[in-house]
Amino acid sequence: MQPPGSTKPSSTRAASAAVETIEVTSAKVACDGGALGHPRVFLDLSVHGRIDCPYCGRRFVLARGAAAASASH
Ligand SMILES: [Zn+2]
Repeated sequence: MQPPGSTKPSSTRAASAAVETIEVTSAKVACDGGALGHPRVFLDLSVHGRIDCPYCGRRFVLARGAAAASASH
């Protein structure tokens, strides 16, 4: 028997564990892992407008305004 008011959480699974999405205004960003700490790497967002850091998995996304500014017109 299930109580009528029981609502089970709808798909609580995240896309990835705990991916932190960071919005940046520059197509070139440097990531050093923050608290995790890893060798500083420079990531280029100009290709897809977003990129995941290969070390810590943080996702960097280009802010909308910045994307428009850097787009070839
Ligand atoms: Zn990183």
